[in-house]
Amino acid sequence: MDVASLTIFSVRQGLLQKKFSATELAQAFLGKIREKEQDIHAFLAVSEELALSQALEIDRKISKGESLPELAGVPISVKDAILVEGLVCTAGSRMLEHYIAPYDATVIQKAKEAGAVILGKTNMDEFGMGSSTENSAFGPTKNPRDLTRVPGGTSGGSAASVASEEALVSLGEDTGGSIRLPAAFCGVVGIKPTYGAVSRHGVIAVASSLDQVGTMGKTVEDARKLFEVICGKDPKDGTSVEQRERPTAKTSLKDITIGVPKEYFEAGLDKKVGDLVKKGIRLMEQGGAHVVEISLPHTQYALASYYVIDMSEISANLARYDGLRYGKHVAKGKLLEEYEESRGQGFGEEVKRRIMLGTYALSAGYYDAFYLKAQKVRTLLKQDFEKAFEKVDVVAGPVAPFLPFKLGERSADPLAMYLADIYTVPVNLTGLPAISLPAGTVEGLPVGLQLIGKPFCEQTLFETGALFEEIQS
Ligand code: GLN
Repeated sequence: MDVASLTIFSVRQGLLQKKFSATELAQAFLGKIREKEQDIHAFLAVSEELALSQALEIDRKISKGESLPELAGVPISVKDAILVEGLVCTAGSRMLEHYIAPYDATVIQKAKEAGAVILGKTNMDEFGMGSSTENSAFGPTKNPRDLTRVPGGTSGGSAASVASEEALVSLGEDTGGSIRLPAAFCGVVGIKPTYGAVSRHGVIAVASSLDQVGTMGKTVEDARKLFEVICGKDPKDGTSVEQRERPTAKTSLKDITIGVPKEYFEAGLDKKVGDLVKKGIRLMEQGGAHVVEISLPHTQYALASYYVIDMSEISANLARYDGLRYGKHVAKGKLLEEYEESRGQGFGEEVKRRIMLGTYALSAGYYDAFYLKAQKVRTLLKQDFEKAFEKVDVVAGPVAPFLPFKLGERSADPLAMYLADIYTVPVNLTGLPAISLPAGTVEGLPVGLQLIGKPFCEQTLFETGALFEEIQS
């Protein structure tokens, strides 16, 4: 079976026309995983037993002539920050090395109800902190397009699993770019939905005002289909809301106005990346889209305010890992020493750095200068976008300022790593949806084009993305 050419649609066709069974399909992907994992290390755990039992259930439905749910038999991988009942969920950390998820996250419950087959849990930077997947406590993932390079992060395992055809689609999580960056670096599609579009129940909390679950696939249509299954209001997550925008048939680029922020093409952007992204935008213009230059004047403050807010929320959220209620426990006999040892041994360097900086930023006397100020910047960024969206349907720009870098190239310098997020964090700070689309390659390395949409206008992103895909081919 040629798994490389499969899509969610062709999986359904194949099952209905009995070209293959769901079990054969799952076996084919499990075979790919066995073949490629040694090189890529996209997975932290492969759930063969679960996958085969889910596939068998689909085959049973088919043999009984029952109707098939929308993702019947679709092999998916899941970032290891999302709980799947009965499977270990580490968030890439020693702290949770032996933590077994006691229940399914809402997105998993929905994926299971839709008939998806869960192949395993994918590698990530520890607790979603990083941009390369090198901060995983369990070793880095390699970029399937070039094994000497990083896949991006933090959902690097998810993107690599899709790019290497070890999974058809994947569930990732994005706090500051963690879906879009690895999607761009690995040459696949990835969407960070509007804050609240998808439930966070059962997703390991990092920075709760920024975290959002999203999807990855080889095609826009695949990412869309998985998104449509997982989105919507969940009574278990008070911040989730019902999807407002319905799929419309914008069949032409002529109906779309694209805003290109001049701040996204200034110093700091690798010229070759910038040129390719501009070429992509020109292509859409030639296809009929209306393209206008816009300004998002507060962009320069986004990265600094993101890291203040992110670290502050991390310092609060990760307080729960005290070795007693959750996480690695080092017995010492004295409570304070147990806390210190458990957290000292359980957390990696980047996590400790952020807990310390976040605690500092929130401390009395500094709160106004850091956290409050960062929140004010957030409002300014939001107003920048609101103003832009009076005139345009989507905003287009790069995903990352540079090409996928070599393993080890940036890991010694946290600031060099943080710079990878310069074009992705504004979207998390403002809650907007954004999609990363493959825009071609430079020196054989994938480059992503980012489209940012109005709140809850994921469908506009999917439609524009699909049209972009079409004119490229
Ligand atoms: N690079 C971002 C960070 O380290 C990505 C976070 C994320 O999206 N999980 O904060």
